Amino acid sequence: MKLFEIVLRSIDSAMIRTLRDDDLWAVINKACNQVGLGLHGNEYGLRNPKDVDQERRRDHLSHYILRLAFCGNPENIRWLVQQESVLLKCRFERISSGDRSLFLAKYSSDCRVAEREELVQVMDELRQLHGPGVNDDFFVVPWQSVPDLVGRRGVFLRKGYAYVPKAEAFSIILTRFKEMLEGQLERTAKELPALRDDRILPLLELVKKADPYSATGGGAGDASKGFIEGQLMAADVDRASVHFPLCMQHLHKNLRSTSHLKYGGRQQYGLFLKSIGLSLEEALAFWRRSFASKVSDDKFQKEYAYNVRHNYGQEGKRANYAPYSCSKIITSNAPSLGDHHGCPFKHHGPDSLRHTLANYAAPNGTRLGKEEVDIILDLVHGGHHQVACTKLFELTRKPAGSATTIDTITYPSKFYELSIKESK
Ligand code: SF4
Repeated sequence: MKLFEIVLRSIDSAMIRTLRDDDLWAVINKACNQVGLGLHGNEYGLRNPKDVDQERRRDHLSHYILRLAFCGNPENIRWLVQQESVLLKCRFERISSGDRSLFLAKYSSDCRVAEREELVQVMDELRQLHGPGVNDDFFVVPWQSVPDLVGRRGVFLRKGYAYVPKAEAFSIILTRFKEMLEGQLERTAKELPALRDDRILPLLELVKKADPYSATGGGAGDASKGFIEGQLMAADVDRASVHFPLCMQHLHKNLRSTSHLKYGGRQQYGLFLKSIGLSLEEALAFWRRSFASKVSDDKFQKEYAYNVRHNYGQEGKRANYAPYSCSKIITSNAPSLGDHHGCPFKHHGPDSLRHTLANYAAPNGTRLGKEEVDIILDLVHGGHHQVACTKLFELTRKPAGSATTIDTITYPSKFYELSIKESK
């Protein structure tokens, strides 16, 4: 469980911050040290067999608990496979060549080391592709085993086989590893309903609460997440909105300009306001006043008040609904025409986002220069929406020239909380 929370999450965060390979390995090591999880190769095990037995045991337990906890949701499977693949790559590249060969022999039975004689026959082609300094360390595998290398024409093909340089050998196992892990997770998902083990079920519940792509974000299941300390009055929301992240500023602005928000916007914004301290009474007052020019008292009570009370657990199944996480906002229920919910970094077009960023002013008056806007747009272009949001925070709230970074924003309430803190 700790492995998930700290190591895999660190990988995720480091990857989206596009750290170099060595930096990524340093992040992984730091996270492993925090949880006392070693990742040594077999050669270290020859000298310290007991230590390595312990390391492997913890590693295996963490990994298999995660499989159980994550197998029920395709988004979680994708996340787990992605982080485990990065971890595997980092480890594979750092073990000795002896360990690598052992690993390949065990997990890629149709992969063989190229014979010297056959290499002589294709050496010209190999040199053309890999340069004159090419040596004779090549693996031969069916071409289907390395689709990424074939796709980028990074490998020589002959009679259905790919000649993979040793340095690229990881491609061979990456494909296998992903297929194997995805397949096993699917099988586990099918068998999970039959699991009735009191030792395991409470553990799984705990892990699910830390689920990075929880589809229940905004549901009752993770009611402790995303809330911050504090109290907010209806009359103070306008003033507080300078500290909101772009998604909530966009909703607030449209609420003010049209005196209305559609259901998706009311849910996203309403639960956010709840998470930053707006009580039920204040929420009813806030929405009532915000809609006043368009919606009569009677209509408000009949059509809107129920929903507000429902979000606070006073209607329906009386659950204490949590705010939407960034990943939920980004990955589910994309806004249609006339909607204002969603994440601007994900759902607004590049021109509109550039315009928003160019006109953005932080609470201290800081504005973004063109270069800074470009940095954020590059992150958006690379699909790193939460990192772009985090970068916006760092560029506008941290002192100029400060190299300090913050953890990637995962809840809009976090952005708000940090912004308030920085302004004090
Ligand atoms: Fe809002 Fe999260 Fe998107 Fe930032 S990353 S704008 S906090 S949804």
